[in-house]
Amino acid sequence: MTNPHLPLDQKILGDIYSSREAMDNLETLCDDFGSRFGGTKGEKRAADFLKAKMEEYGLSNVHLEPFDYLGWERGSASLEIISPIQKNIPCITLPHSPPVEIEAEIFDIGAGFPADFDTHAEEIKGKFLMANSELYPKGIKRWVHRQEKYGRSLLADAAGFIFVNHYPGYGPATGGVGSHGKAGPIPGISISYEDGTFIQRLAKKHGSVKIRLSSSDKLRPMTSWNVVGDLVGTEKPEEIIMIGSHYDGHDIAQGASDPASGVVSVLETARVLGKHAQLPRTIRFAFWGVEEIGLLGSKAYVRDHAAELSQIRFYLNMDAAGGMPSKDINLHAWQELQSTFEGFREEMVQDFAIGQNFHSASDHYSFLLEGVITGGVEPVRETRSGRGYGHTKFDTVDKVTILGLRDAASLAARILLRVARVDNWLASPRDAESVRALLNQPQFAEIQAFRKKMDAYFEE
Ligand SMILES: [Zn+2]
Repeated sequence: MTNPHLPLDQKILGDIYSSREAMDNLETLCDDFGSRFGGTKGEKRAADFLKAKMEEYGLSNVHLEPFDYLGWERGSASLEIISPIQKNIPCITLPHSPPVEIEAEIFDIGAGFPADFDTHAEEIKGKFLMANSELYPKGIKRWVHRQEKYGRSLLADAAGFIFVNHYPGYGPATGGVGSHGKAGPIPGISISYEDGTFIQRLAKKHGSVKIRLSSSDKLRPMTSWNVVGDLVGTEKPEEIIMIGSHYDGHDIAQGASDPASGVVSVLETARVLGKHAQLPRTIRFAFWGVEEIGLLGSKAYVRDHAAELSQIRFYLNMDAAGGMPSKDINLHAWQELQSTFEGFREEMVQDFAIGQNFHSASDHYSFLLEGVITGGVEPVRETRSGRGYGHTKFDTVDKVTILGLRDAASLAARILLRVARVDNWLASPRDAESVRALLNQPQFAEIQAFRKKMDAYFEE
C-alpha cells in the first residue's frame, strides 16, 4: 500500500522524535503547577499555560471557557479503630466526601463484585463498607469502577465507604465519590493495602471492627475552565475533528501520567500539525477542567456547544495517553470505522490494535452520550487489574518516559490528519434512540439498572 501522506508523516515523526518539548511541558505542568486539582492556584496557571502554548503553536480562536460547579476542598481527616483495640489509621477522604463525625462497624466486601451487594444486603446496612480497588473482579468482563462500588454502598444504606488499595506500597488511592454534580451523601475514605489487610486480620480474630471517622472537608461553588483552540480547516472549516484531555489531576499527586501525559501529547499534536500541516477540515484541541470529580468540563462543553455537536466528525480522547502501557486506538463501538482505521494502520506502517469497546471513565463519555463519534488512545492489547500508582501520590513525572509521550503524540497526529483528509467517512453520529440502544444492550443490563437507581437517588 502506498502512503499518500508520507511527506507529512515524515515531518511529524521527525519533529516529534527529535524534540524535548513534550517532556518540558510535562515538567512545567507537574513541577510548577502541582496537581492542578479543581480550585487550586495551579489549575488556573495550567489553563493559562495551555492557552499560551496553543497561541505559540499558531492555533486560532484560542480561549478559556469558564463553567461553574460544586467544588471540594480537602480538610483534615482522622480515622480511629475504637473496638476491639484502639489504633489510629492514616486515611484520606475522597473528593466530594461530606464533612462528618461518625462511628460504625466495618463490613469487608472484598473487591466489590456487584452480586456481593445483593448477597450481603442486610449486613451492609448501617456499616462502613470496605471494598478494594481491583477494577476487574473475577468473573466479570468489565471494569467495576470506584464510583460503582461507592454507589452500590449508598444504595445499600451503608454508613460510609472505605476504599482499600489492592496494590501494596502505594498508600491510599483517591477518586471522587460525587455524582450528578452533587456531593456524595455518605463519607468516602481511602486507606493503604497494608492498613486494609491489618483490619481484615483484626476482624478475623475478633469478629467485628468498629471505627470513628471525623473529617472537615469543604464543599463550595467554584469555577473552572476548558481551554480550546483551533487549527482552522482550509476547505471545510465547519467540519470539526476534536482531540482532548483533561488537565486536572487529583490533589494528592502531580497527576503526571493521569492526565498530564495525555495533555502534553495533545499539545505536541497541536505543535506539529500547526507547524507542518494544511488540513481541509478544522482540528479543535481541547483541555478539560475537573474531569476527576465527574467529567465536569466536558459535560459543560457538550451542554454549551449542543448546536455544534453534529459538526464533529470524530473526538479522540487522550486522557493519560502518554503513560498508557500500550498505545492503541479504541473506537467506542463504531464498527463502521473498523476498516477505515485498519487502512490507516497499514498505510502508517504502525503497530497498534483497534478496539471496539467503550467505557464511561473519561471525557469522551460526555460526547458519546450526545451521539458524537468517539475513540481514544487507550490500551487495547493489555489489560490491568487496576490503576497501579495512578490516583496515588506516586503518579509523578519520573514515571513518564519521553518515548511514551512521543508514541502517543505521533499516533494521534497521524490519525487526526487522516481523519481530516479522508472524504469517504463511513459513520454518522448516533441519534438519541441509537445511544439508548447502545447503552441498553443485554450485556449492560446490570450496570444500566444500577445507573437508573443512581439517577433516581440523585434526582429526587
Ligand atoms: Zn484521567
